Amino acid sequence: GAAVSLRDVTKVYDNGVAALGPIDLNVRTGEFVSLLGPSGCGKSTALRIIAGLSEATAGRVRVAGRDPQDRSRHNIGFVFQEPTLMPWATVRDNVQLPLDLAHMSRSESAARVNQALAQVGLLEFADVYPRELSGGMKMRVSLARALVTDPDILLLDEPFAALDEITRFKLNNDLLTLWRKLRKTVVFVTHSVFESVYLSQRVLIMTPRPGRIAHDVRIDAAEPRA
Ligand code: ADP
Ligand code: ADP
Repeated sequence: GAAVSLRDVTKVYDNGVAALGPIDLNVRTGEFVSLLGPSGCGKSTALRIIAGLSEATAGRVRVAGRDPQDRSRHNIGFVFQEPTLMPWATVRDNVQLPLDLAHMSRSESAARVNQALAQVGLLEFADVYPRELSGGMKMRVSLARALVTDPDILLLDEPFAALDEITRFKLNNDLLTLWRKLRKTVVFVTHSVFESVYLSQRVLIMTPRPGRIAHDVRIDAAEPRA
């Protein structure tokens, strides 16, 4: 089924900036798709609309069959370019935040947090504070926090853009390994051709602002090779 479906979606910000569209987009359940385009073309805008963090000016948006503006029902994992961790809280408490907000019991949430930390290779750093971590490790914590609710869909907004090239390559590999295991629906925003082709099954190439989808390219690089 369609995990994400956008129909004739546009976004014009209050200041009159036409940021996006019209775009049509279908992402199948379990698919890893990249939105690739130049800075300012509306990639983040598209992702925020899918996440329900921003409302489309026109068009129809469905995520897992629901309107993402309906916050009470949605389960969407979002990772921002800048790690947005609470500096006063440990890694464990940062990852647990979405479960606390959902009023999950401590015993159930502890197991979930451990699983999410294990998925990103940070279980042994559970009791450390964010300031003690490298940029790459902070990004892994953000990823664990996005995964901990077992979301229907994972939205990644240039998550590795601020990292050095070696850390970035390592995280690309780890994300790909994780995706092969979990088979979550992923929409990954990037302006890196390498990243989009390396990670995704499909790359949607956008025009400059207001971004429209100029090309929809199948890659299948995300399938394990023989
Ligand atoms: P990208 O992620 O591709 O770099 P964005 O979606 O962040 O692009 O931005 C698309 C355009 O919309 C840019 O011109 C940006 O300046 C503008 N924009 C983004 N957010 C806002 C906002 N809240 N208000 C007004 N303009 C915005
Ligand atoms: P990453 O590739 O995740 O950004 P780095 O390359 O900066 O990590 O760090 C290399 C390794 O150093 C990490 O994988 C981790 O094992 C170790 N390390 C980093 N920060 C700490 C820390 N605060 N305490 C203990 N070990 C650490």
